[in-house]
Amino acid sequence: NTKEDPDLRKPIIAGNWKMNMTNTEAKKLIGEIIPLVKGADVEVVVCPNLTCLAAAVELTRGTGISVGAQNMHWEPKGAFTGETSVAMLKDIGVTHVIIGHSERRAYFAETDETVNKKVLVALENGLTPIVCVGESLGQREAGKAADVVSHQTAAALKNVPAGKADRVVMAYEPIWAIGTGKTATAQDANEINTVVRETLAWLFGSEIADRVRIQYGGSMNAKNADELMAQPNVDGGLIGGASLKAADFSKIVLFGK
Ligand code: PEP
Repeated sequence: NTKEDPDLRKPIIAGNWKMNMTNTEAKKLIGEIIPLVKGADVEVVVCPNLTCLAAAVELTRGTGISVGAQNMHWEPKGAFTGETSVAMLKDIGVTHVIIGHSERRAYFAETDETVNKKVLVALENGLTPIVCVGESLGQREAGKAADVVSHQTAAALKNVPAGKADRVVMAYEPIWAIGTGKTATAQDANEINTVVRETLAWLFGSEIADRVRIQYGGSMNAKNADELMAQPNVDGGLIGGASLKAADFSKIVLFGK
């Protein structure tokens, strides 16, 4: 239980801004967030739109806040109009990348296979992948949440070398909880996060699995963050809507205080 040994897994709170915030708006929001999260003892990541990444890196330099992209392509370069390579992200100082968000799986045809290719490329190139998994409402109601999430986790991490596995950040995001205001109960979130950890243990051994941070995401906000973060297998949050307001996001970052 890392709540007794916080050094094992440093909590990680990431804001997924999705297709919100122009560059001008993003710079303002980052300017508001910086003083509010100063001194937080968690890893803080903001993931603005691609057009804001370079400015975000410049603005957060020296603040302890990291910048993540919301997606990338697995090929190193070439004729892939509209796509972004890992080298392009690294070159401007991006350190994290969200991979396999359910919106990308649903609207942009991402599959377990493309997710896996992206995870491997991120790890090979030293970017921290935030790998999203989660069941639909129908799958939950059919009692398949644990199976679906375990399968997605194993598929996303296929061929990941054990030596790099603890650099992965997992994000359990039940689809029915994303952007709906319906949060999983803290117990449900912990139950599936535990399934993710058991899957990691099966893949890489329990010593490595115990070092992997597993976030919860899905209508996490300033009010429910304390209870979710108190769960033994919830090591962070991936925050959508509530990450767009500095006051709300910073309250989540400062959970428990
Ligand atoms: C997300 O999309 O990653 C997310 C968790 O969104 P929200 O917090 O708005 O539910």
